[in-house]
Amino acid sequence: MFDNLSDKLDKALHVLKGHGSITEVNVAETLKEVRRALIDADVNFKTAKDFTNRVKEKALGQNVLTSLQPGQLMVKLVKDELTELMGGDATGIDLSGSPSVILMSGLQGSGKTTFSGKLANYLKTKKTKKPLLVACDVYRPAAIDQLHVVGDAIKVEVYSDRDEKNPVKIAQDGIAFAKANGHNVVIIDTAGRLAVDEAMMTEIKEVHKAIQPQETLFVVDSMTGQDAVNTAKAFNDILNFDGVILTKLDGDTRGGAAISIKSVVDKPIKFIGTGEKMEAIDVFYPSRMADRILGMGDVVSLVERAQEQFDEEEARKLQKKIAKDQFGFDDFLKQIQQVKKMGNMKDLMGMIPGAGKMMKDIDIDDDAFKHIEAIIHSMTPGERTDPSSINASRKKRIGKGSGTSVQQVNQLLKQFNQMSKMMKMMQGGGGRKMMQMMNR
Ligand code: GDP
Repeated sequence: MFDNLSDKLDKALHVLKGHGSITEVNVAETLKEVRRALIDADVNFKTAKDFTNRVKEKALGQNVLTSLQPGQLMVKLVKDELTELMGGDATGIDLSGSPSVILMSGLQGSGKTTFSGKLANYLKTKKTKKPLLVACDVYRPAAIDQLHVVGDAIKVEVYSDRDEKNPVKIAQDGIAFAKANGHNVVIIDTAGRLAVDEAMMTEIKEVHKAIQPQETLFVVDSMTGQDAVNTAKAFNDILNFDGVILTKLDGDTRGGAAISIKSVVDKPIKFIGTGEKMEAIDVFYPSRMADRILGMGDVVSLVERAQEQFDEEEARKLQKKIAKDQFGFDDFLKQIQQVKKMGNMKDLMGMIPGAGKMMKDIDIDDDAFKHIEAIIHSMTPGERTDPSSINASRKKRIGKGSGTSVQQVNQLLKQFNQMSKMMKMMQGGGGRKMMQMMNR
């Protein structure tokens, strides 16, 4: 995410690192590079210029007695300004209606249907809501099918009516259906076109007027940069929407849309999409995003993602198993699956301060666990609970069965063994034994 921009800002800010003080000359030099980095990231010229002007004013107006080095000070000023530009504080969505109605708008291919599913899944799991998805695209039967596929995957009901050709009527019927069936959130997925056209705008405006949603969200593909900003402006002029959803940030190396959209339409970015999976949704926090852009990582989001996947009941069971020395490969497999649910590896690495930059040129295989999983799957249930029963000939068979080598099987068994010992030690004696061991 935003690799190019991060890289260029890092280089720009580096200029000041060797300087003992802030001067007009070195500030101008640094900010010229910052501005270039922003423009290369597809931030519009005026936004970039205003940005650097504000940073310059603040930098030169700083009290000389500040304890920060010029380099650090500039990073801080740029971070604060980036945060401000992206919207300051995070803004939630209004779920006060009964049911609360959320209308999705945006161009075809922006990720509207995918995001409708992600949002339904998020509200269901995080906010214990009972959402209903409504398919309002009357032009493409495939779009209705797609929403049903998404709904099935996340176990959220989908309302559709293939015989009805009036989207306003479908939206209204969908809301009535929600009321009758105890759904407290209704997410309405509407038809998009490939480009902004009048018929689409008139239609979405009519739906909007008829149902008066609590939230009207505009979904846009962040990879389209300035086009995303222009489309947002066109939709906002007609709909006066409440918030922006930026999708496909996982593939966006530049970040121009994320940085400039708020300053152009004056509406907050509320959520971001970071992958095709239903779990790849994050609340948008301007300050955390600024940290990520400046390579400072985003540990808070990382921890939150981990917590989302963390099931207390499961954890307790696991703890008991470890204590009783019953932790086996099946449990290990479950752990791997939980980690995988947190998102793709590169994205997760980007949240660790400094790691994103270090790992940027390394191709992290998202299937890093593929071999491990294959090996475990090739073991018998008995072997998974008691790996010590795996002899040389079985190792050969497992290697063959999983398309790996005996060495890889051996390596996994060794690692598993060490891990089991470590976990047991952490459990008993509260890590004391571990400390003793480490001090040896
Ligand atoms: P719609 O026409 O606006 O409903 O768009 P879709 O929901 O069908 O999405 C279009 C394509 O973008 C699909 O292939 C999705 O899987 C993909 N997509 C949607 N959101 C994301 C995202 O956050 N990241 C990535 N990488 N792909 C996405």
